[in-house]
Amino acid sequence: MSYPPADDRLRHLLAQRINCHVNSWKLAFFIAGGIVDDPEIRAELDRIAAAHTAGQHCGDRNCKACFAASVTGADS
Ligand SMILES: [Zn+2]
Repeated sequence: MSYPPADDRLRHLLAQRINCHVNSWKLAFFIAGGIVDDPEIRAELDRIAAAHTAGQHCGDRNCKACFAASVTGADS
């Protein structure tokens, strides 16, 4: 069985990262669940992914994908 599980991958990936900063895996998993369930966060992830798929800047100034594209000139 692979990890993270394919049917709960996003939550496990988030929890792994959060787990570095909190005292328990249970808390990390709880926080990750709240993020995964947040419709505004889901909508923003969808919006960013759609922009990238269309070959456009997503407009997020922290976006590493857009930063890399601007450095390499791959999108120009
Ligand atoms: Zn971007």
